[in-house]
Amino acid sequence: MKLFANFTSRLQKINMENNEQKYDRVVAYLRKSSEDNLKGEANKQLNSLEYQRDFVKKALVLYNLKLVGPIFEDDKTGYEAFVRDGFDDLLDYLKDHKGEVDGIVCTEISRLARNFADGGMILWYLQNGTIKRIYTPTKVFTDSSGDQLMVAIEFAMSKKSSDDTGYRTIEAMKSKARTMKHPARPAILGYVTEGPVGRKKWIVDPKLGPLVRQVFEQFATGEYTFEQIAEYAQNTGLTSSKSKTGGFNKNTWRNRLQDLQYTGIFKSDGETIAGEYEPLISSELYYRVQDVLSDHEHPKTTHLDYTYSSLFKCGLCGGMLSGTNKKGITYYRCGKRRSPCKEMDRITYIPEDKLEDSLMTAFEQIEIDQETWKEAREYVAEINQPQKLDLKKQIRILGEQITAEQNLQIEMGRKFSAGELTKTEYDRLSENSHRKEMSLRNTIVKCENIANELDELMYQFLDNIKHVTKRLRLALPENKREMIEIFCENLEWKDGKARWDWKKPYFILANRPKNSSVLRRQDSDLRPFPYRYPIVTNRSGLSHPHFAKGYEGSGI
Ligand SMILES: [Zn+2]
Repeated sequence: MKLFANFTSRLQKINMENNEQKYDRVVAYLRKSSEDNLKGEANKQLNSLEYQRDFVKKALVLYNLKLVGPIFEDDKTGYEAFVRDGFDDLLDYLKDHKGEVDGIVCTEISRLARNFADGGMILWYLQNGTIKRIYTPTKVFTDSSGDQLMVAIEFAMSKKSSDDTGYRTIEAMKSKARTMKHPARPAILGYVTEGPVGRKKWIVDPKLGPLVRQVFEQFATGEYTFEQIAEYAQNTGLTSSKSKTGGFNKNTWRNRLQDLQYTGIFKSDGETIAGEYEPLISSELYYRVQDVLSDHEHPKTTHLDYTYSSLFKCGLCGGMLSGTNKKGITYYRCGKRRSPCKEMDRITYIPEDKLEDSLMTAFEQIEIDQETWKEAREYVAEINQPQKLDLKKQIRILGEQITAEQNLQIEMGRKFSAGELTKTEYDRLSENSHRKEMSLRNTIVKCENIANELDELMYQFLDNIKHVTKRLRLALPENKREMIEIFCENLEWKDGKARWDWKKPYFILANRPKNSSVLRRQDSDLRPFPYRYPIVTNRSGLSHPHFAKGYEGSGI
């Protein structure tokens, strides 16, 4: 073999040069490269690890070297090759064994460096004396400045070729996503993946697909909380074998309901692609659902399994009461983490009804006079301040998102005119983007309304204070809790009764003597509380149709 003939003649020369000092303690480094495989059969053979291992064995004999450490190997090709575990191990080994290793054996100098960082390290090790020699079949590189320059040139040349390869690979992957038009990931709930590896397609699941669509349609009505939609989905037959309860939980649905891929549009490498698989839902339905979601999310969302969990302290130990459900009835009980409850066998279960009645009784005693009303008004303006700032911030962020969406629309127009997108693709992507922009704008309007009406609604709330009790009974759990939090603090359950302190300034409202001079009474001509928008309390739940309906129906 020509290569080895050359190798042998070099060997004699090297041996003569190195008479004084032998740098014979070596480790070896082998690497398989993807670009070599593309250069034809001959290169393929040179590239194989067997060949490279074979060379190491021969080199040890011919150069009269001693292998004093491991043979480091990297056999990954393509993208994975950028993670070179073997190479990193080699560098660590050389650093840790400085003075114990003289050189590296490898079949080609270029195999030591796929990028400037790798090459830089090898050059640095040559310069600072960590290594003195690099043994290849065609040349032994020494630590002389001339050889260092040669090593640098070899590295630079191999870097260039590897850059070309890298660029080709990235382009190939991009065009693959473009031609595939199916997301390169397992199908989401409602779809199944079909076809051979590398050409998998998303197909609508004939059984689950229509059910998922139904979930979107139901949720778009705005009548569901996440828990309720999860329950609905489970009842229709959307079940999960991995779940203990049999259904998908509310967080899964929260994610599913926001997944744009159901409209046939997906993201790949930051690019939005109009897919060729069948959309499960229309873009119109998707954004209707996003609007309902933003009602849930703005300004903030609270999920409560139990209305009064962690609100009442246990009168005995001071620990928080938490909710539990037994045969459909909600109870609260002490967590028994402190003494004396910790040592007690019995747990007292307080039915939610009983707890609520106890609260109601006290609320019914609230009356309000002019002076108090004024005081409370000022207080309300003050407590709304942080939330108003919050809303301003949200509006600013939403504005930025709109700008980003508009830039995307310009970019899509550019791509369409450059022929990178077909007319259909452009239309679909552009429809999606405009709907998204609309949805963001709607959310801004909502936030602005909330900001503007926040004080007003709170004032009306105070005006209608007499209705609190009735409203409280009808309210959704999160609103009940919020109302309690507005009025009360230091809640405690003791001796079978709820006790608490009225918060400033509501302590003035409570415990007034009966028949005191009150400004507004229950039988006055007050307007019912307006449920135009999800607040009193800024929680989304008040916009819930069930609540609004219940309120009207109560005849207040
Ligand atoms: Zn306790």
